[in-house]
Formats: sequence, structure tokens, C-alpha cells
Amino acid sequence: MFKGKCIIFSAPSGSGKTTLVKYLLNQKELNLSFSISATTRQRRDGEVQGKDYFFKTKSDFKKLINNSEFLEHEEVYDDVFYGTLESEVIKQLETQNVIFDIDVIGGIRLKEYFKNNALSIFVKAPSVKELKKRLSSRNKDSNESIETRIQKAQKEIEKESKFDLSIINDDLDLAKKESLDAVQNFLSK
Ligand code: 5GP
Repeated sequence: MFKGKCIIFSAPSGSGKTTLVKYLLNQKELNLSFSISATTRQRRDGEVQGKDYFFKTKSDFKKLINNSEFLEHEEVYDDVFYGTLESEVIKQLETQNVIFDIDVIGGIRLKEYFKNNALSIFVKAPSVKELKKRLSSRNKDSNESIETRIQKAQKEIEKESKFDLSIINDDLDLAKKESLDAVQNFLSK
């Protein structure tokens, strides 16, 4: 059995889950630590190796797969891989609760793995139109990447019912409050 508990945040890209995860990480009384995934994607400006992600070459990522080092891994976008490293998470769970910012398929897999030791939360943007607006305005991705993300989002929205809870991120303050209440409640049980 693990000492800590798991909080899984999944959502279509652009729903604002990362903002909610960062907000919760700042609530020190929750004793949350961020699960740092491995990825083969390019590092964005401002991202730090070993803090935001473990940035890996494709060949190193394949080695990790072959050595069964992932709890789950996914080709989240065409030829771009992401995965949760088992050893990292198990180490974190010895002293802290762990929060995951992960795609929808990965979130479902982790919930299946951790079962009642995990709360899985699906974050929704109010509409696909709003999702497009958010992805364009954050200016981080090319038009092609935005289009890929929207297509993926439409498929992901169909999997909402596999999560313990859904939060609509329309009014950010409200979404923060709902997230905090749900996490506090789960951790206190
Ligand atoms: P980004 O490239 O914008 O940082 O992340 C793209 C997507 O990959 C997001 O939905 C993010 O939550 C997801 N992601 C990040 N880490 C992992 C992981 O370890 N496994 C899976 N399946 N998805 C991940």
C-alpha cells in the first residue's frame, strides 16, 4: 500500500487543466507533488529539464519502454510520446500525495492501476469553439498542432464518463474552488 494518494487531472489540451494543477500545487496543506512525465517532444521556452518534464530522445524513450519503466505511456500526438515513470511516482508516494497532468487515455489507465487510491478528474472547456480560442490565444503551438489537438479533443470528450468527477472550466475561480473542494474531500477520507 502507498502512503500518499493520487490526484489525476485529464482533459483535452486547452481546457485549462494545467492552471488548475498549478493552483492545487500551491496549496501547501494538500502536500502534493507533481508527477514529472517523460516526453520526446521539444522543450518549450521556459521549460526546465527534470522539472516540467524529463525530455528524452526517441531512442532513450524506447529503452524505457523495453525495460518496462512506465506505468503508462502514450503516443499522445503523431510521433510524440509521453509516459509516467513508475520509479518516480512510487518514490514520491512514500512521502507525499501525487498530482498528474496527463492525457485522457493515460488518466484512465492510471485510475485503473491505482483504483481507490486515486481521484480522477476530467476538466472540460465550455465548448469546442472556446477550446479553439484558448489554444490559438496561448500562442504556443503551430496552426497544424492546434488542429491536431482539436481533433483529439473531440474524441477525448466522449471518454468523460470514465472519470470519477468532471469540472467545467468556464469561470476559473469557480473551477479552482470545485477542484480544491474535491481534492480536500478525497484526501481527508
Ligand atoms: P504538452 O505537450 O502540452 O505539455 O502535453 C500534451 C498532453 O500530454 C497533455 O494533455 C498532457 O497532460 C499529456 N501528458 C503529459 N504527460 C503525460 C504522460 O506521462 N502520459 C500521458 N499519457 N500523457 C501525458
